[in-house]
Amino acid sequence: MRYVSTRGAAPVLGFEDVLLAGLARDGGLYVPETWPQFTADDIRAMRGLPYSEIAVRVMLPFLGGSIAEDEFRAIVRDAYASFDHAAVTPLVQVDPTTWVLELFHGPTLAFKDVALQLLGRLFDHVLAKRGQRVTIVGATSGDTGSAAIEACRDRQNVDIFILHPKGRTSEVQRRQMTSVLSSNVHNIALDGTFDDCQDLVKAMFNDGAFRDRMGLSAVNSINWARIMAQIVYYFTAAVALGAPDRKIASTVPTGNFGNVYAAYGARAMGLPVETLVVGSNSNDILARFFASGSMVAAPVVPTLSPSMDIQISSNFERLLFDLLDRDGNAVTEALNRFRAEGKFAVTDAQLARALAIFSGHRVDEAATMATIADVWKGSLYLLDPHTAVGIGAAKAAVAAGRVDPSVPMVVLATAHPAKFPDAVEKATGRRPELPPRLSDLYVREERLSELPNDLAAVQDFVIARARAAQEAA
Ligand SMILES: *Cc1c(COP(=O)(O)O)cnc(C)c1O
Repeated sequence: MRYVSTRGAAPVLGFEDVLLAGLARDGGLYVPETWPQFTADDIRAMRGLPYSEIAVRVMLPFLGGSIAEDEFRAIVRDAYASFDHAAVTPLVQVDPTTWVLELFHGPTLAFKDVALQLLGRLFDHVLAKRGQRVTIVGATSGDTGSAAIEACRDRQNVDIFILHPKGRTSEVQRRQMTSVLSSNVHNIALDGTFDDCQDLVKAMFNDGAFRDRMGLSAVNSINWARIMAQIVYYFTAAVALGAPDRKIASTVPTGNFGNVYAAYGARAMGLPVETLVVGSNSNDILARFFASGSMVAAPVVPTLSPSMDIQISSNFERLLFDLLDRDGNAVTEALNRFRAEGKFAVTDAQLARALAIFSGHRVDEAATMATIADVWKGSLYLLDPHTAVGIGAAKAAVAAGRVDPSVPMVVLATAHPAKFPDAVEKATGRRPELPPRLSDLYVREERLSELPNDLAAVQDFVIARARAAQEAA
């Protein structure tokens, strides 16, 4: 299996190099040269298998033989043993034609764990084989830092430094990060804003000598292995609902387009997924794209579903690559135009090809709250605001005649309601409880370091603690 860059000017790489590279050297994103194919019999043979076994079957072709099957199986089992549900990603029916696919049973209660629990272990495996270490640095406003920390904790060959703005995250968000006491995890409470944190991380990556000495790396959402891991649960859900002998449709609450692109991949591999509904909150750049064929940037507004508050969806580039017939120059041109002018457009024919698979729908704040209330009343099921955007978008797609209402609709539940207790309580009068694995969060010991908003101070802190630095010295 070989991977090509969406911009067409980076080296073609195998799985392990793509895993460690993240972004391609030409600024593009890696995609498989061709999608592995699963026949109806292959899919039928997945019936009744545990999650980890379906995961091995679905992902093995992407590894191109770089990791032996038994070794990979052990890594996958270990990754998903960290989930607190035996099905890993269970399906819950909330009305006659709608199922919720719960992706929030991992350590941080959000869907990013599904990919990151595997990614951290894959990094460690490949680094050990190569005798290398890396240093992960990242900035968080509070929401995604904990998933990266949980992915990297206790890894032999990875040290992780996460900057968060001191006093500006919620207490749950801070504690989810700072109560991880593993010696390779370093939480930095920066005396500054989230933007200051991001600027410092960028500055560290831009310091070539520092970057090389530390082996700086990131586990961000454009890493191919994250997409690969997310393809799996579309298979488990569809198989549970009768695939390959019955089609499904799916709705994905979307931010960076990684999750819904994974569904697109599953479909390309032979899974009978009829329609993919992209759910947007008030930051509806994608819904506007699918309505018009134009991607037009707009200022980000804060919403009840903060993980979807985006201006541009980085993983959309992978779909664009296909819409533009895998022409890396055309992708580069469109994205350069977007950067310069804040917009680009595809042709009517290209849009028609996208609409044969995708449908985009916006769900505003009032509709998000109303959806949480309705589903609670109708099914006694609590939705987090992101998942509510998904349910709302699924209903909107049915109302618009964009999906066949007789096809089972699988809506992805991307966060546990207890991650957003205020909105859920306001909509339903019920305050969701943290699951048992986090019930003692408020009394756990915390470890963090407060640092000034100063690049040299942060770099010195990293140099003193990153094992890659000590080996280089
Ligand atoms: C990251 C995230 C999303 C958006 O997923 P993308 O893959 O970026 O589209 C949706 N909901 C939650 C809770 C998330 O954490």
